[in-house]
Amino acid sequence: MLLFPAVFDKLAGLHAKNNFAFALVVGNLFPNPDTATTQDNSNIQSLINGNIDVPLMTYFVLGNKAFPPAVVQRLESADDEICHNLYFLGKRKVIKTSEGIRIVCLGGQLDPGIIAGESKDKYPPYYSETDTKILRGAKTADILITNQWPAGIRARSKVQFHADEEPLAQQCLTDLCATIKPKYYFSTSGGTFYEREPFFHTPSEETDGLYPITRFISLASYGNEKKQKWIYAFSLDPTASNPITVPAGSTASPLSLSDKKRGVQDNHESSGLVYEDNHGGRRPHKRRRHERRGPPTAAECFFCLANDNVATHLITSIGDNSYMTTAKGPLPMPTTFPELGFPSHLLIIPLIHQPTLAAMDEDDRHATYEEMQKYRSAMNSMLKSRAGGEYGSVTWEVSKSNLPHTHWQYLPIPADFVRKGLVEAAFKVRAEQLNYPSFKSIDVGDGFEESSDFFRVMIWNPDHPEDQFSSFILRFDEKIRFSLQFGREVIAKLLKLDTRVDWHDCGQTQPQEEADVAGFKEAFKQFDFTEDYKGTRPRPTPTSLLISQLPDPGITKTRIPGQKLWITALKGWHSKQRSSLVSPRLDYQSAGTLSFCFDIEGIFITPKTPLSSRVFEECEDRILSDWAGVFRSEC
Ligand SMILES: [Zn+2]
Repeated sequence: MLLFPAVFDKLAGLHAKNNFAFALVVGNLFPNPDTATTQDNSNIQSLINGNIDVPLMTYFVLGNKAFPPAVVQRLESADDEICHNLYFLGKRKVIKTSEGIRIVCLGGQLDPGIIAGESKDKYPPYYSETDTKILRGAKTADILITNQWPAGIRARSKVQFHADEEPLAQQCLTDLCATIKPKYYFSTSGGTFYEREPFFHTPSEETDGLYPITRFISLASYGNEKKQKWIYAFSLDPTASNPITVPAGSTASPLSLSDKKRGVQDNHESSGLVYEDNHGGRRPHKRRRHERRGPPTAAECFFCLANDNVATHLITSIGDNSYMTTAKGPLPMPTTFPELGFPSHLLIIPLIHQPTLAAMDEDDRHATYEEMQKYRSAMNSMLKSRAGGEYGSVTWEVSKSNLPHTHWQYLPIPADFVRKGLVEAAFKVRAEQLNYPSFKSIDVGDGFEESSDFFRVMIWNPDHPEDQFSSFILRFDEKIRFSLQFGREVIAKLLKLDTRVDWHDCGQTQPQEEADVAGFKEAFKQFDFTEDYKGTRPRPTPTSLLISQLPDPGITKTRIPGQKLWITALKGWHSKQRSSLVSPRLDYQSAGTLSFCFDIEGIFITPKTPLSSRVFEECEDRILSDWAGVFRSEC
């Protein structure tokens, strides 16, 4: 049976039942001109002559083979139309169909030889990186079609792919897909079909905090031996908004932008601080020094609550501008400070993803620094109440412009060490041994006036008020290979915990971690200044508190007095997603001075910092259970 009548007959049968809007041919439509038989050529000719019925509007792209000369001739003379209902989309094209579907396509194989820029010619099956960059300018797409695969597309997927030959994958296509976030991404893979789990792109301002979803589908060729899927029907609503949560069965995006990745893990590992990804198990411990990548995005950052792998069970308190978490692999043991009974190694972390405090906007910087100091004082108060004058504290920070996300580390220290000046001396001596610049006794506040990177240590003497401290600064530049372990190393020596310098050697099981966190929270409870910990409301879990951070502006938003909860209601918008949340029409009046009234067809909650899907879901559940009842009763 000949290809064209067979394929188009099949299509006609399906179309009769389903009434499709259009069809897309995503691989090679025509036989390879080098190997085409006489019969193939006459078949092509009958197509061109209109002797083969194409049952519905069908677009085709350029595969990895050149078009036969007769086809090129026809396309040139007939404005990309082969015959009735059969159109060439083009090698590199952005189009909108009459149904309003936006299609972006790029045919052919990457030709590194096209160095100078875009591929000029429309028919040869090669493209350049510049072509992909031009297409990135499309910004969005409903459908993306490329002949080659995007690099890394199978990462994070559990779907098996047993191909005779793995399709060639290109990083520039990864960048393209990550930029335009198509709803569907079609490609081809020889004799094998592959459909990945849908994946979601990280919510951002650009996506209105929603989750764009991409479905990657790679079709097998027609007539393949293993009878793998070569035709695929799908429905697409170009007006549908992106989901507000992650759909079941989807994964995080496997695509990492080539110019945006720098080893967040590397940085964190070498700083020895936190949150190792225990779930994927794909990351080697060794630093890969040859890899040069950009700073991590908030979604990749292990200090950002937007990261799916943030160890939420370690979070002990969340404020308006910063949060506090116990350290993974703490330097002290639960027995190091017997009066406490837990390691008390805390990290105070800004909610905003910035390398230094100084890098933040003025308002954020002031508020963040102030609150971090407040946490430090509150911790000191906790020490005093627990252990009298037994312990002072030491807090340090590496303020370095190429680190992903600044933070402070806090540790109790025996009071005598502080009183005798041993803490200060330990830092100075070690700095000297390492040929670092010397420490200056100065308080640089939020660091805004500083023109270089610096290491800061703040020492609290329990004989002084809790908010006081002596501050020492070691300024350094790129000529100094400053060890991110410096603070931990000095304190480890001082506390005779030399064997625990490397946090990897201090691993705890999750139950141990949870026990330490519980011990700490109990001790800190009365000193935690974050509002929600006061009053009669049951203490919420840390994740549910996240949602109470300030949201970005929505269409309607207001604040429920007495509660740190903001609600954004979008009129008649994503009713599909959330129609069951509350009754469709609802007037709500708050008890206090602020009152508001609107049609709720959905409650939409947007935190200021993007949350990971997991955290978001936890928050959402919490919000729903907390507030749905209120809304119903007011109704
Ligand atoms: Zn971050």
